[in-house]
Amino acid sequence: MKANTETRPLYPQRPMGKWHNRRVAFSTAIIALLFVVPFIRIDGQQLVLLNVLERKFIIFGVFIGPQDYWLFGLSMLSFFVFIVLFTTVFGRLWCGWACPQTVFMEMVFRKIEYAIEGDAGKQKLLDKAPWTSDKILKKGLKYTLFLIVSFAIANLLLAYVLGVDELYKIISEPIQDHIGLFSGIIIFTAIFYWNFAWLREQACTVVCPYGRLQSVLLDRNSINVAYDYERGEPRGKLHKGTHRPEGDCVNCFQCVSVCPTGIDIRNGTQMECVNCTACIDACDTIMDKVGFDKGLIRYTSENAIVKKTTKVITPRTWGYAAVLVLLWSALGFVVATRTDTQTTLFRAPGSRYIENADGTVSNLYTFKIFNKTNKTIVPSISLDAPHGKLLFAGSPDLTLEAAGMSEGTVFVIIQKSELKSRKTVLKLSVSQGNQRLESFETTFIAPEE
Ligand code: SF4
Ligand code: SF4
Repeated sequence: MKANTETRPLYPQRPMGKWHNRRVAFSTAIIALLFVVPFIRIDGQQLVLLNVLERKFIIFGVFIGPQDYWLFGLSMLSFFVFIVLFTTVFGRLWCGWACPQTVFMEMVFRKIEYAIEGDAGKQKLLDKAPWTSDKILKKGLKYTLFLIVSFAIANLLLAYVLGVDELYKIISEPIQDHIGLFSGIIIFTAIFYWNFAWLREQACTVVCPYGRLQSVLLDRNSINVAYDYERGEPRGKLHKGTHRPEGDCVNCFQCVSVCPTGIDIRNGTQMECVNCTACIDACDTIMDKVGFDKGLIRYTSENAIVKKTTKVITPRTWGYAAVLVLLWSALGFVVATRTDTQTTLFRAPGSRYIENADGTVSNLYTFKIFNKTNKTIVPSISLDAPHGKLLFAGSPDLTLEAAGMSEGTVFVIIQKSELKSRKTVLKLSVSQGNQRLESFETTFIAPEE
């Protein structure tokens, strides 16, 4: 049978060296963190929850519900500006070190592949070889492990999106009770499997929008994995014992062989480069062997190569930093002044005041109370000033489920003697037990004296 090599266009060599060891340690910590965080709870709720379906988020214990549009908008804007600032200064550090796609691809899936099929040369030979029992065993084992890891990642994703409790229910209760969510796990397992087994580096080079933004975000001072062409060019093979007029690049192509996205870093900064550092290690090994200084490929900037300057902070960086400080200040203010509930209370449309026989005046209002927390609240509304009373229509149950809402109508009844003008500002509050959750105002209309 003819082997299909179309699905594996790239066979990067196994990376090894100082930078790779650092990345292994960092990636191990990231993977451990990713799997541990959903199980950490603060005050009974998950430390991080990203329920995009219901627009409920918990970021380090701060619940952001559908009503927190200010908080949500400012958080998103701050996150976006932070990404821009970070990328302008540090280039694609995120891609190489912390992006889950790179971390799982390079540190889990590719490690499995190297362990079972061997290095790049052996993988290529195996793909071209006929389907012997050895090949079936190796491929079967590899793809089974890929499937198991994809299943684990799909569960991890749902632990962040739906929460660990919901995920536990799907696992522990009969499948037919959660057929939709169980199908979700299977679909995500298939997507991750397809991504890591076939799509691979194309997720970064073709699909990821962040990679495509690089040309806009990077400038000549951004730090990136870069080839020092001032030192390396003109490149040429090394001939021992002869004078070398060329630069330090000995044209060994080791930097190209290890590149998981298949590019040649010597062609300059490219959108496909995920800053994985594999070419730094490969080139340093060669430099060591030929007796040249290491660092022909290194973390550096275009200006550092050409002008030998190490300036990182530019006016553009200061500008982004200033915007970020403003946004974070606004975010801090919104978080500090945030209340657990948000109540709207307006006079019922078309209604007028009612003069009662007992010398009181009534106004009819409709109200809505939104719960901005992730816990059940049993609120009560009270009139703080002026003196008067509230009469709810139909004794409604105001209990608010997590991120829920309750509504109703209420008469506000006030003695005429308390009303000094046609329009009076009412001060009201929402409490739970003795705890005041929110204060707000509305207007009350009375007849002209
Ligand atoms: S060019 Fe170097 S840093 Fe960039 S992806 Fe290839 S090996 Fe990684
Ligand atoms: S590994 Fe270094 S020496 Fe070899 S081709 Fe790449 S840049 Fe040149």
